[in-house]
Formats: sequence, C-alpha cells, structure tokens
Amino acid sequence: MRYAETGFNLEIDLTRGNIEKVQTDPRDTELYLGGLGTNAKLLWDRVPPEVEPFSPDNLLIFSAGLLCGTPATGCNRTIVSTISPQTELMAFSMMGGFWAPELKYAGYDKVILRGKSPDLVYLWIKDGKVEIRDAAHLQGKGATETATLIRKELDEPKAQVASIGLAGENRVYFASIEQGRSSASRGGIGAVMGDKGVKAIAVRGTGDINVAQPAEFFELCNEVLEYIKFREENPIPGVMAILTGLGSPQEMQVHDEKWHTENFMWGNSRVRRKGFWNEEVEKAWTETMTTARTRLISCYNCPMKCGATITMPGLPTYMMKCFSKLTYTMAAMSDLNFGLTIAQRATEYGVDGFSTPQVMAFALELYENGILTDDDMPGMPSDNDERFYWLLDRIVRREGIGDILANGTYWAAKEIGNGADEYAHNNIKKHEQLPLKLSMLNPIYFLMYATGEKINITQIEGQFPQAPFPTREEREAFVKDWFQVPDEKFKQYFLDWELRGENSIPYYPTVEMCCDIVDWQEKMHYIDDALGMCAGLSSFPLKPPYHIHNYPKFISAGAGIDMDEAKLSQAAKRYRTLVRAVNIRRGMRRKDDKPPKNHWKKRFPELEKELLDTYYKFKGWNNDGIPTKASLQELDLDYVSEDFIQRGILTDGEDTPSKETSEASAE
Ligand code: SF4
Repeated sequence: MRYAETGFNLEIDLTRGNIEKVQTDPRDTELYLGGLGTNAKLLWDRVPPEVEPFSPDNLLIFSAGLLCGTPATGCNRTIVSTISPQTELMAFSMMGGFWAPELKYAGYDKVILRGKSPDLVYLWIKDGKVEIRDAAHLQGKGATETATLIRKELDEPKAQVASIGLAGENRVYFASIEQGRSSASRGGIGAVMGDKGVKAIAVRGTGDINVAQPAEFFELCNEVLEYIKFREENPIPGVMAILTGLGSPQEMQVHDEKWHTENFMWGNSRVRRKGFWNEEVEKAWTETMTTARTRLISCYNCPMKCGATITMPGLPTYMMKCFSKLTYTMAAMSDLNFGLTIAQRATEYGVDGFSTPQVMAFALELYENGILTDDDMPGMPSDNDERFYWLLDRIVRREGIGDILANGTYWAAKEIGNGADEYAHNNIKKHEQLPLKLSMLNPIYFLMYATGEKINITQIEGQFPQAPFPTREEREAFVKDWFQVPDEKFKQYFLDWELRGENSIPYYPTVEMCCDIVDWQEKMHYIDDALGMCAGLSSFPLKPPYHIHNYPKFISAGAGIDMDEAKLSQAAKRYRTLVRAVNIRRGMRRKDDKPPKNHWKKRFPELEKELLDTYYKFKGWNNDGIPTKASLQELDLDYVSEDFIQRGILTDGEDTPSKETSEASAE
C-alpha cells in the first residue's frame, strides 16, 4: 500500500487526446520525496535542453506535495513545474488554496501535460475519471469567471478549478494560473498552459489518502496546532510587524503600511518615498481596506486566514494575499483604492502581481524618457491611473506595444533597444523582482539572490533573522527558545551579529557562516516544496511550527518512509541539485548568478567573489556553478554527471573549468 501519496500520475497527451493513469515508482518517492522533487526528476528525464518553452515537448506538471491530502496543517501546495518562457529555465511556481488535496482525493499525485491541444479545452477530473472537454465558450473569459462557469456547467459546486485568463491564452510571459483562493504566478507558467490549449483543470475527489501511522501522525499534527497557537499568542518582538507572526495574514489585516511604502521602491523600482506614510494616508487607506475586505479566508486545512476576499464597488469579488496589496499602488505612485481596483482586472486576466506592475511602470519610464514615444503608445490616456489600465489591457491582448511588453522587462528592453535595458534593472535571471533597493550589501542576501533558482527572494529567505537585533540582551532572548535551528552554532552566529562595528554587514556573518545560513534557509524551502507545505508555516517565518526536527517524523508517520534528519537533508540536496542540473543543462552558469543590478548602493566585488567561490564549493559545485562529478555521484545522480560529460559540460575526471572561463563568469 502507498501512504500519503496515491501512487498514480495522470498523463495527458493533448495533441492526441490520450489519457493515461501511470503507476509511479515508490523508490522515486524515497529519493526525491514528491512535489518539486519528483517534478524535477520528470523534467530532467523527459525535457531535454533543446526543448523550447512553447514546444509541444515541454511538460507542464501540476503536482500535489507528498503530504497534501493528509491532515498535516497547512499542507496544501500545488507545485507547477515547466520550462519558463521568461527565464528559459525550470519554473516551479506554487499555489495554495484547495486544488492539491482535491487532486489526491481524486486519485492522482500529479497531472502531467504534454503536446498541444488543437482547440481550447479544459480537463475534468472526478474520482479517477478524466475528460477533455471543449472550452471554446470560455475563450477570453476571466480566470475566476472561468472557474465559476465550469462549476456551474458541471453542476459541481465543490470542484476546485485552476484556470488561466486572457494573459495565459495569449502567452504573456508573466501569466499566472489562478485557483480560487490562490495563484501560481512566477515564471510564466500560465503562458505554457495557454500554449498547450488548456483553459482550466477542474478536480473533484472524494477518495481517501492512507497515512502509515495515523495515531503518531495526528499527535504530530496536534503539536503543530498547539505551537501555532503559542506563536499567535507570543509574537516575535523586535522585528517589523509582518515578521512577528506566521503566514502572511498581517497584510490583509494590518493597516500600518509605513514599512512597505517607505522602504520598498515605487514606480519602476526607482523611487523611495521617505515620509510618505502619515496619519491622513493611514486613515484613507484603512477606510479603503476595511470597506473592500469582505472577509478573511484560509487555504485548505489551515487556521491562519492569510487571504481576503476583496469587493470593490461594481466589480466581482476576488481574492488577495500578501504584498500584492501594494504592488499596483506603488508601481503607479497611486493610492490603495487604485491598487485594489486594478488588481481585480489583473486577477481575471491572470497575471503575476509582482512582475506586471513593474512592467507597466517600466513602459511609462521609457515613455517619460523618450525611449518610447507617442507613436508607440497611440491613444494612451493622459491620466496616470488610466495609463495603467490602458497598458494592462494591451499587454494581455498583445496589442501594439503590449505585444513587446508581454515578454517582461528583460526581453522587452532587448527588443526596444535605444538604451531601454538600463530601465530593466530589477531582474534576476531575466525575471522581475520585489522592488527593493538598499544601501549596504548584505552577504546572506547576496548569496540568496545570486544562487536562488526559485527566482523570488521571498522563496528562499526565512528562518534566520533578516537583521541583527540592536542589543545582545534582545538577541539572547531570541535564541532562548529557538529550537528550530539545525545546529546550535546558528544561535552563536546570531548572538554575535551587531548592527555596527566589526561584526556587522558586509563582513559579518562571515563567508562560511553565510554559506551555512543560506543553505539552511534554502533547504527548508525545498523541503516544503516537495511536501506541499505552505512556506508561511515553515521556511519563511521565524520560529515556525514545521522544521528540520519534526519533518522527518511527519514523513515517516505519514508516508511510511523511514526518515531522519540526515536522510531528509540528503534528499533535499539531491533534488535541489537536480533543479540546478536542469538549468545548467539549459545554459545557466556563474554569470547568471547575480542579484539585480543596483539592489545595493555599496557593493564589494572581492567579497562577492569570495562568497560565490566558497558557496559553490560548499554546495559541491565547481567554479562555474556546475555540480561536480563527485558531488553528483554522492547524491546518486550519476545519470546527471554522465549526461554532463557527454555534452561537454563537465570533462571526465576534471571538474574545474579553465581559468579563463571562471574569470569571465565572475564579472
Ligand atoms: S499560512 Fe496562510 S497562505 Fe499558508 S496555508 Fe495557511 S492560510 Fe494559506
């Protein structure tokens, strides 16, 4: 018997309309867990580097995490993996909500799409039965509108529907997949879904998922619930409001936005507005938020209520979560009312709430600086807010300048030329980032930004505080009940971290400490993404209920796999390396491992080089960031090293590239 997972994937060849139920190999679960781990294995095995994102041979994989569908609190993530049109690397975007557990109850761990449907279709999965249905009548419909129409048409009010809007249909590089209470937004996965001709996947399941040791598993779940309660009653002192608790409910509940509005950049990630937040703004924004927020909502099996349903006058209700509350407002230098209103249209179009506002602000910056002209923007309104609606409509339809902007700032700048690339300055690996600009280089963040392959900083940071606490007493108080650390040495790292002086950034934490910290933070995110756990209860916040000490117990009792911390760390390292291998095989190298151009004012090239050199070694990668033959073999990834050698990426017996390559890459 298979525990926690169903043991079956659903494979659909959209070109032929062929549907297969495929039994999976339990050994793969032991080696790669599930979710992201087994997705990476599938992409490695079946999508060679020659395959373009919009090729029928690209796969689009929807995977429930290994523990989704069990009673583990907050374990509800769907991990969607494919080759991204924007980065041309592996995308693995996550969505919360209800879809993943429903898929398990319907009898599948993954839905694997290949080929392309000649006509727009949607998939209907109900308790093991699968239908490919015509979606011509849904063409051009909004993402949430589509979900409502499908539920009605099927007469299945409880079906969970993941769908795309117009942006996905038109292959906008930052198109999202929306799903009721959540969305998978990064990497343009919605564009791949549109390219495959799939408007939506509706799922309804009423089956059961077996748990290996139910009594032990419930006991662990109860401990987590108790700890969540404890953390709610004991917010972390000394950190900014949004980092005091778990999940991200603060964004929908808290009205003090001084920190975001004054520290994050406005417009095209250019302008910081110190002194913006005042009583008058707070009063107006609080009123807007309390009027718009219909109710607070949670994902499947979670008490946190991070999201909110938002209803703006005359518009259908939609769901909002986290920092998307402010991205449109700040990009347009407007007010919250504008941000919440345009987000409704953007959600229906199905676009990424981080990239889209920045792409539009980028276009207007180009216009203000004469790089785009009236000829490029015929009929653009003169009103600032109206311009954003105008641009959004053109982008999702790929009309006029919108066709170029729909590829994101990196590709658009290349096509526009005339110095436009100076304005596409906030990217990592061709993908727009949070609009943040800081003064002094932070070595921990440097490494995370440079080497993170999840593309978003919020998807690699967490666990270790973002900054030192001002006094040693405060730091001592913090480490007292910090049992989540994988090793006691992390407490000392933090205790000795000062705001100023010798033990301050950029030279403290030391290079070696930075490697430990970044590796720990990244590992926890990768574990979450294989298990289907929400980062808001694990890898992202300080002192979370899930951590490296209780995860092995969850996996043992849930999936029936004999697991301990060492084995779990090794598994996470294995599929993390496999993700890198997929990207290395697609041409990613050290030259791509860098933060956004001007993320910090004060840079330290020598230190940065040392950080990368040391971290690469720590991870078992050579100077060019390629996993070495020895490290691949140690992770049972011999097939990767063989492939690398065959392709000339590694040479047999020689893991270090020539001096010339290393120096060129270290720019
Ligand atoms: S913590 Fe928030 S985002 Fe995470 S599962 Fe719970 S409600 Fe969803």
